[in-house]
Amino acid sequence: MINKLQALDLARELPDRIFLDGDWRSPASEELIEVVDPATGKSVRTLTVASAADVGDAIGAARAAAPGWAATRPRRRAHLLRGLADRVEQHADQLAALDCLDNGKPVTLSRNVDIVQTAAHLRYQASIAESRHAETVEDAAGAARATLNREPVGTVGLITPWNYPTLMIGRALAPALAAGNSVVIKPSEQTPLSGLLLARLIADAGFPDGVVNIVNGSGPVAGQALAADARIDMLTFTGGHATAQKIRQRTEARTTFELGGKAPFIVRPDADLEQAVQAAVIGAFGNQGQNCMAASRLLVHRDVHADFSQLLTSRTDALQVGDGFDPQTECGPLISARHRDRVSATVDRARAAGIDVLVGGVSAGHAFFRPTVLAGAGRSAEVWTEEIFGPVTLIQPYATDEEAVALANDTRYGLAASVWTSDPVRADAIARQLRCGVVWINCYSRFDAAISFSPRAASGTGAVGGVQAYDTYTVLKSTWTLAGSATR
Ligand code: NAP
Repeated sequence: MINKLQALDLARELPDRIFLDGDWRSPASEELIEVVDPATGKSVRTLTVASAADVGDAIGAARAAAPGWAATRPRRRAHLLRGLADRVEQHADQLAALDCLDNGKPVTLSRNVDIVQTAAHLRYQASIAESRHAETVEDAAGAARATLNREPVGTVGLITPWNYPTLMIGRALAPALAAGNSVVIKPSEQTPLSGLLLARLIADAGFPDGVVNIVNGSGPVAGQALAADARIDMLTFTGGHATAQKIRQRTEARTTFELGGKAPFIVRPDADLEQAVQAAVIGAFGNQGQNCMAASRLLVHRDVHADFSQLLTSRTDALQVGDGFDPQTECGPLISARHRDRVSATVDRARAAGIDVLVGGVSAGHAFFRPTVLAGAGRSAEVWTEEIFGPVTLIQPYATDEEAVALANDTRYGLAASVWTSDPVRADAIARQLRCGVVWINCYSRFDAAISFSPRAASGTGAVGGVQAYDTYTVLKSTWTLAGSATR
């Protein structure tokens, strides 16, 4: 593992450039962003951000590279993707350390989850590139046959958030490239470091110039320029609902949106309480709760509510909050002191509205906020309806399975849910009624690059992972041939 001093050295030797057409280029703008360590509030370094003109040039390079990449044999694309996966694994400590430095997340979590999954998506999509063959279908009369080909959409813009900096790039980049699209990536300006190292690895892996371009820049300038450019054929946006609304108004490209969530976590009276509490703590406070799938509404049967609450509050109180580079740390700082203030203000408003704070609810130094459990929120309360995106969860009793399902579905979001029970029939019945893209039964936060999910409702559109993610980055073409007319 890399320590903080080594991570600072690595961050400072990364180029102050954008990665464009296979080369490093100085941005035309002179505007700087300060990269901040959220554990201390200290500056790590500055970076010059891309202007709208720089983004335009990156799109131009990606478009010029698109036909050649689309025509590249799938075996070759797969070979390059696997080469990138190898390099991601070889640089796992460095990528994890950079994400820990500007995001604050515990470095072991980043190393063992984010970076491992990034490599897994690259490898899995390489295998899909090789195996997703065209299909031939005969028409009803048997007079003609059609070949169904999946072609790349063209040039894809990826706008990614700060909560999983490497992974959010990797899990969208992998299917986009596997399917033969060229790409322009705009990472969050709050977490620009790992994108710079990824660009190095992409160049080293041998991708043709212009196939991948990475521009660090602000949302309102670089992000908006990418979203509004008519030369972008497809836009994949991962981020907040409000930004998605702005983007929807500006683009006519094909879009996929991966947005927020308000995941319910249902505990039936026959559940293993120890395991459920352990999973709730990880589900609610993992990644400091800055997770679209965070277990942010704990729905607990009234017969076990008191025991569950007591166990949960004592486990939550015991969580080690500290610098992400400290191996003992279970919860790092939030992304920034400004975000900490937002989370803290939300909890203060809840308190003022009469909602109980069972544990936490206090700031703990620079961008730190103690993991917090709230109780007694009505269904119109802000903390019930809105994504807090911090280490704050709610506990709510219920009496019947029907009530649990109604409470679970009482949200505009539709991303993830979890059910805890020893009754497989009830588990299945509840899971089928939940309106969301992922349900975990007696587990939480399990992912696999081969297993897809689709956000619903206000949580977005499209597919993440699996062959379905690959298909999202393709367009279908059917080519008809009259029987006997083109034989050799
Ligand atoms: P955000 O503020 O919406 O930012 C996301 C990205 O959009 C960043 O790169 C941001 O750039 C950029 N952006 C901001 N304004 C823009 C504009 N006007 N035009 C184009 N791009 C613009 O979201 P965030 O705070 O980074 O991320 C948190 C949100 O992401 C949460 O709601 C979370 O639930 C969601 N999320 C969803 C998933 C999923 O799979 N469903 C996964 C992760 C996160 P700057 O940061 O540089 O301003």
